[in-house]
Amino acid sequence: MKEEPENTTIFGKILRGEIPAEVVHEDIHCLAFKDIQPVAPQHILIIPKRHIPRLSEATEEQRTILGHLLFVAAKIARDLGLDREGFRVVVNDGERACQSVFHLHLHLLGGRDFSWPPG
Ligand code: AMP
Repeated sequence: MKEEPENTTIFGKILRGEIPAEVVHEDIHCLAFKDIQPVAPQHILIIPKRHIPRLSEATEEQRTILGHLLFVAAKIARDLGLDREGFRVVVNDGERACQSVFHLHLHLLGGRDFSWPPG
């Protein structure tokens, strides 16, 4: 496997165990943990273990992991009972969409009503 440059983002530190996280799911491809500043009663982040800075930078060879992240989001939503009333999955890509951590992550949000369009 090709050597990756060190992932200096906060999520890289979580993946290396340098800072703690409340992990709710882990497998060989991804890690899911509670957001430190939740914007909903349930707010989980699902991240790939390989560093993909943002969705728009995902490569052809990473298409399987992109599907896996969504699959895991749905599984966690079911485990938390969020599928009964509905939930939201969000990916912020780039500054204009308020991405603040440049390690791809899915926000799984549930436990309250959401409006549309999003802000
Ligand atoms: P985004 O703005 O889409 O890049 O989302 C980044 C998310 O990471 C925000 O919702 C933050 O609250 C969350 N976050 C930042 N640092 C941590 C951390 N140490 N543990 C858990 N979540 C974090």
